[in-house]
Amino acid sequence: MSLFQCEVCGCCENTALSFQGCSFVEVYDWSYAPERQGKRLCSVCGPLKYRDGTSTGLGQWHGEFRRVFLPLGMFVTNQRGNLAHKDTGDENYRAYAIEDPSHG
Ligand SMILES: [Zn+2]
Repeated sequence: MSLFQCEVCGCCENTALSFQGCSFVEVYDWSYAPERQGKRLCSVCGPLKYRDGTSTGLGQWHGEFRRVFLPLGMFVTNQRGNLAHKDTGDENYRAYAIEDPSHG
């Protein structure tokens, strides 16, 4: 398991808590947001339903740790499975935390 940055909202997410970032694209119903298919998604941005119509349980934060928003596209998963700034390699991602972008 490792950390990654959601490609829609920019928050820091754990692969184990988001079905590997919703990377198994063929099992989901993407009609809610087709542009998200193929991106690494957090548990909030992920698909609400599977193709057969059953609920994925996604669409809300899992609550296992605090949701930290980061500047979109600025963080990558490094070889240790930690989130690191793509330019500096800094793993202290919390130092770059920003306000929830959806709240203005
Ligand atoms: Zn997200």
